[in-house]
Amino acid sequence: MQPTTGIPPSTSRTTIRNHPERAAPEEAVSILSSGLVAHVGTIEDGAPVVIPMSYHYDSAHPDRMYLHGSIRSRLLKHLSDDAPVCVSVTITDGLVYSRKAMNHSMNYRSVVLFGHSREVTDETEKFQLFDQMVRRYFPGRTGGEDYHEPPPQDLGVTALVEVTIEEWNGKVRSGSPTGPEDDDPHAQGSAGVIDLPGT
Ligand SMILES: Cc1cc2nc3c(=O)[nH]c(=O)nc-3n(C[C@H](O)[C@H](O)[C@H](O)COP(=O)(O)OP(=O)(O)OC[C@H]3O[C@@H](n4cnc5c(N)ncnc54)[C@H](O)[C@@H]3O)c2cc1C
Repeated sequence: MQPTTGIPPSTSRTTIRNHPERAAPEEAVSILSSGLVAHVGTIEDGAPVVIPMSYHYDSAHPDRMYLHGSIRSRLLKHLSDDAPVCVSVTITDGLVYSRKAMNHSMNYRSVVLFGHSREVTDETEKFQLFDQMVRRYFPGRTGGEDYHEPPPQDLGVTALVEVTIEEWNGKVRSGSPTGPEDDDPHAQGSAGVIDLPGT
């Protein structure tokens, strides 16, 4: 259930079939709010392209995310024109090792979302969104105090696109390895989790 996001429940495209018990649509807002890197997938000239990017996301507007880059960027040009887009954001929480090869795994929180993108051209809106984006990555930094705010010419050479999120799902794996002997300290081998600091 996603009652507060305005994003409708998953269709078959976003239904998690492999380990459906790990589906976590209710975590999507939190994952997008704390993630750092978005992998942005598009179709260009009939072929898939996936590019890593920083992004902006604000839980107050959960159905939108923002991407930015040079106005010369091939990707940004493509995204400026009502392009269908698929974005994945992953936070890795741990490396999971098992006594059985097949049960080695990772602990993670991830979102895959589908939407359409459009360019944001209004200078005031761009200024505000870039300011919010800096504060998302660098909490406590203040424009005009800690750094010079962007002059109009910088805004002019930086493209900003808004992705309207139409559909998503979250998936979360947590906990110990699940191999058949992983709970047995006397069994051969070793098993456990190497915690990562939410990278
Ligand atoms: C963590 C991270 C955050 C980033 N954040 C941003 C951002 O917010 N905005 C932004 O504009 N750019 C960002 N970049 C750079 C981004 O990945 C692209 O390189 C850049 O946007 C140019 O895209 P393009 O389609 O114009 O590239 P082009 O130079 O036209 O791409 C041509 C080809 O180069 C290769 N390529 C492009 N980028 C990469 C890459 N990163 N790694 C390996 N091969 C690549 C691919 O094969 C691609 O098909 C980020 C990169 C990383 C790793």
